[in-house]
This record gives sequence, C-alpha cells and structure tokens, in this order.
Amino acid sequence: MITIIKERCVGCSLCVPFCPVEAISCYGRAEVSEACTECLFCLEYCPVGALQEVGFGGKHNGKTS
Ligand code: SF4
Ligand code: SF4
Repeated sequence: MITIIKERCVGCSLCVPFCPVEAISCYGRAEVSEACTECLFCLEYCPVGALQEVGFGGKHNGKTS
C-alpha cells in the first residue's frame, strides 16, 4: 500500500494529477484513498519523497535520499 510520510509532505499537490485513478487528495497534506491500485506512479513525482510503498517486501521509496 501507499502511505504518506506526514512529516515530509509539504502539501504541494504535485502528486495529485499523476494518479490515474484519482486516489490522491490534497488539502494541506496529501492522503491516499482505497482506490489506489499501487501502480507506484506517484512515487516518482513527489519532490520530497513523502510517498512511500509499504508492502510485503519491506519499504520502497521513490527517492534515494
Ligand atoms: S500508487 Fe498509483 S494509484 Fe496509488 S496513489 Fe500512487 S499514483 Fe495513485
Ligand atoms: S507531491 Fe509529495 S509533498 Fe507534494 S502533496 Fe504529494 S505527497 Fe505531499
């Protein structure tokens, strides 16, 4: 599943239009709904690496730092 690292999210909304199923909403801070298909597109677009996949294989973040 995709989670938002709340401490990192700056509420820029950049990730919102990239979600193909409109699962991300952002009102001050991003949130991911159950509509998320875990396509992982959004991980590439968050400038601060606030979107993170937490799944069976551990953690994966779109940013390396
Ligand atoms: S992983 Fe895909 S479906 Fe889920 S919130 Fe990100 S862009 Fe949307
Ligand atoms: S792109 Fe990243 S920092 Fe911007 S609203 Fe989305 S999760 Fe938050």
